[in-house]
Amino acid sequence: MSRVYNFSAGPAVLPEEVLQEAAAEMLDYKGTGMSVMEMSHRSKAFEDIIHTAEADLRELLHIPDNYKVLFLQGGAHQQFAMIPMNLMKNKVADYIVTGQWAKKAWQEAQKYGTANKAASSEDKTYSYIPDCSDLPISPDADYVYICENNTIYGTKFKTLPNTKGKTLVADVSSCFLSEPMDVEKYGVIYGGAQKNIGPAGVVIAIIREDLITEDVLPGTPTMLTYKTHADAESLYNTPNCYGIYMCGKVFQWLKKQGGLGAMKEHNEKKAKILYDYLDESAMFRGTVEPASRSLMNVPFVTGDKNLDAKFIKEATEAGFVNLKGHRSVGGMRASIYNAMPIQGVEALVAFMKKFEKENA
Ligand SMILES: *Cc1c(COP(=O)(O)O)cnc(C)c1O
Repeated sequence: MSRVYNFSAGPAVLPEEVLQEAAAEMLDYKGTGMSVMEMSHRSKAFEDIIHTAEADLRELLHIPDNYKVLFLQGGAHQQFAMIPMNLMKNKVADYIVTGQWAKKAWQEAQKYGTANKAASSEDKTYSYIPDCSDLPISPDADYVYICENNTIYGTKFKTLPNTKGKTLVADVSSCFLSEPMDVEKYGVIYGGAQKNIGPAGVVIAIIREDLITEDVLPGTPTMLTYKTHADAESLYNTPNCYGIYMCGKVFQWLKKQGGLGAMKEHNEKKAKILYDYLDESAMFRGTVEPASRSLMNVPFVTGDKNLDAKFIKEATEAGFVNLKGHRSVGGMRASIYNAMPIQGVEALVAFMKKFEKENA
C-alpha cells in the first residue's frame, strides 16, 4: 500500500488513524455484527454515535447551551438557500463578497429578498479581505453574511466584521475546527464536512436557538426548515449515518491532538513552512496579501502557465497530488487541512526547491 500526499481542497485528506479505525470496524461495529452503513438510524448503536459526536463537537468548540448543533445534508450550497429562507424576516441581508462561495450565497439570497453587497474584494481577484470595521450595514438587515475562509482564493478573515449588532452568519467549510472560535459572536456557523472534518455528504450547522423558529419564508419546504431538524435532533429523516460516524471519529482524533488550540499552533507552523518558502523563492509566489493569508488553502503561481503545468505534472508523479489551482484562478493550490501531516508540507517544500533549482 502506498498513500500519496493529498493536497485536495475537498473532499480532502482524512487522518490515517481515523481511516484505519473505520476499516477495522467495517464488518462488525462494536459487536453489533454489522457495519455502521447497514444500521438503523434509530438503533441504540447509532444514537450513541450521533450523541457522542455532538458532545465532542460541543466540547471542542465550547458551544454554549443556547446553540443547537444540526447534522444536515445538501452540501454548503443548500445552506445558501436555507439561511435566507429561515432568517430573512425583514427580507434584507448584507453579504460580504470575498470569493466565489460568498458570491454564490449572495446570488442565491437574492431569490428571497434584498441581498446587499456590503463589501467585496472582487476588484483584485479576491486576493485580500476588505476592511470590515465600518461597513454600510443596512438598519433592517436580518443578518450579515461572510465566508470566513475562502477555499479557492486562500484568504481568511483574521478579525470578524463589525456587524453593528446584526446577526453574523458564517460559512466556515474550509476552516472548520482548524482553530478555536468564539461561537457566541455568531448566529449561524455552518460548513460542509468534506474539507476539514469528514467525508462529503454532511453539513454541520451551529445555530443560536432564537434564530430557529416556525416563522420562515412562505413556501419553505419542511426539510429546509431548521426547526424541523432541531426538534428531531437531526433525525427527522435518515441522515448521512456513515458520514456522521466518520465526523465523530475525527472529533475524537482532534481531542487526542490536544483540541483546537493545539490544532491552531500546528496549522500555523505548517502554513509558515510553505509561506516562508513562497516569500523567499525566485520562482514561486503566493497570490494573497500577507495579512489575509489562509492557514488552510495556499494558492501560488510561477507566473508562467507552462511552468505551472510542468510543476503540477512532476509533483503528481512524485506523489504530491491535487495541487492544481481551482479552474477559475489557475496556478497551484495546496490545501493543508488538519489531517495533512507537517511532513507532507516539508516534503512538498523540498520538492519545490528541487524543482526551482532544476528549472531556473
Ligand atoms: C466547498 C465549499 C462550498 C461548497 O460546498 P458543497 O458542499 O459542494 O455545496 C461552499 N463554501 C465553501 C467555503 C467551500 O469551501
